[in-house]
Amino acid sequence: MAIERTLSIIKPDATKRNLTGKIIAKFEEAGLRVIAQKRIHLTKAQAGTFYVVHKERPFYDELCEFMASEPVVVQVLEGEGAISKNREVMGATNPADAAEGTVRAEFAESVGENSVHGSDAPETAAEEISYFFSGLELVG
Ligand code: ADP
Repeated sequence: MAIERTLSIIKPDATKRNLTGKIIAKFEEAGLRVIAQKRIHLTKAQAGTFYVVHKERPFYDELCEFMASEPVVVQVLEGEGAISKNREVMGATNPADAAEGTVRAEFAESVGENSVHGSDAPETAAEEISYFFSGLELVG
């Protein structure tokens, strides 16, 4: 499988509860390497642009409020099949459906406050990485 890069976000519910290190450990144990990382506090407008694909969904406003409520840690993860591997480590969107041992099964509080974001395809990964990082910041 090809080496890929994916955009990961450790969301406000997790940074607030000081779970950043435990979540990164799960990524690293799965063979993903953190090649860029920063802690930022998004504005609601910045969160809205990032999640614009969900603009028409009923939870959009709540999602943007949540993403701007506390700092987040944005990262680029690299590895073999990184996009799907990261999604596996994250678990299902709703923690009630997430497989045992996944980040969301262990740490997520609800379907909205679910601890992590991960890109879902190569095109969105490229777009999402460039939303947060310049090429110079990716140190593979
Ligand atoms: P994923 O993050 O697993 O790719 P989606 O792209 O479907 O999931 O949704 C993006 C984010 O929107 C979710 O991670 C979650 O924070 C929020 N979300 C999704 N569905 C709901 C819902 N039914 N109610 C509240 N928030 C939701």
